[in-house]
Amino acid sequence: MIFRTRFAPSPTGPLHLGHAYSALLAFDMAQAHAGEFLLRIEDIDKSRARPEWEAQIYDDLAWLGLRWPHPVMRQSERQAAYDGALDQLWQHGLLYPCTCSRADIAAAASAPQEGAPLQGPDGIIYPGTCRASACRTGLRPTNCPLRLDMRKAVECFDNNVYFTETGHRHGDIRVDADTLILEIGDIVLSRRDMGTSYHLSVVLDDAAQGISNVVRGEDLFEATKIHVVLQKLLGLPTPTYHHHCLIRDAAGKRLAKRDDARAISLYRSEGKTPEDIRFMVEL
Ligand code: GLU
Ligand code: ZN
Repeated sequence: MIFRTRFAPSPTGPLHLGHAYSALLAFDMAQAHAGEFLLRIEDIDKSRARPEWEAQIYDDLAWLGLRWPHPVMRQSERQAAYDGALDQLWQHGLLYPCTCSRADIAAAASAPQEGAPLQGPDGIIYPGTCRASACRTGLRPTNCPLRLDMRKAVECFDNNVYFTETGHRHGDIRVDADTLILEIGDIVLSRRDMGTSYHLSVVLDDAAQGISNVVRGEDLFEATKIHVVLQKLLGLPTPTYHHHCLIRDAAGKRLAKRDDARAISLYRSEGKTPEDIRFMVEL
């Protein structure tokens, strides 16, 4: 099997140092294994994705010295694949419609005596309000969010769910049923106005692109547990994962969370070279 990595940015803003680190690391790992590095544009959020940002991504990555095969996969062109997977999960009774608002969820999740509601990879863990009563038969609804019934999902496979991690938390990471039910819960797989979700799309696209090694920031480590579940349910292979440390500023604050995180384009306009960027991210 060919060693294949990818970089999958969302064209919703400029690439900054953290993105450069992730892309360069994925590229270097592919090179080191005589493998292949792919690019994928994650533009399912049509309210935030902009063609200008996508163009800037190609330009910045090429300037950094990265090369990738064409055509580039764009999630906005993949709805048929997402629909197919949603239909499959719906037919197995693993999805249910949910129209709870954020406020409904926050109210239902915070029992006064227990304090703040538990947070999962997607925010507050869904308290299950619609799980029992929602209709799961007939045609899959396309006009409202669909949640994965995690309790039912874990019954679909044996308890031997894990992924292999090669980042600094390396080893085989077990994903047990209790963690999935209690710490992740019924996540949304098809969002309103989107017809899919980050989790569903990323899993289907990594499989469609034949990605053997997913390289990305460790902020997505917990989300990987969701991805492994979806791979099991959809009969897809589980790649090896490499979650890298996040690039921080001198004060230890995550670059991606900093409002003034410096864009690669800004360094370029100041005359910095790709070698300078590599030096800054220690690659
Ligand atoms: N589009 C995601 C992001 O920019 C990529 C997540 C991933 O690599 O799986 O954060
Ligand atoms: Zn609901």
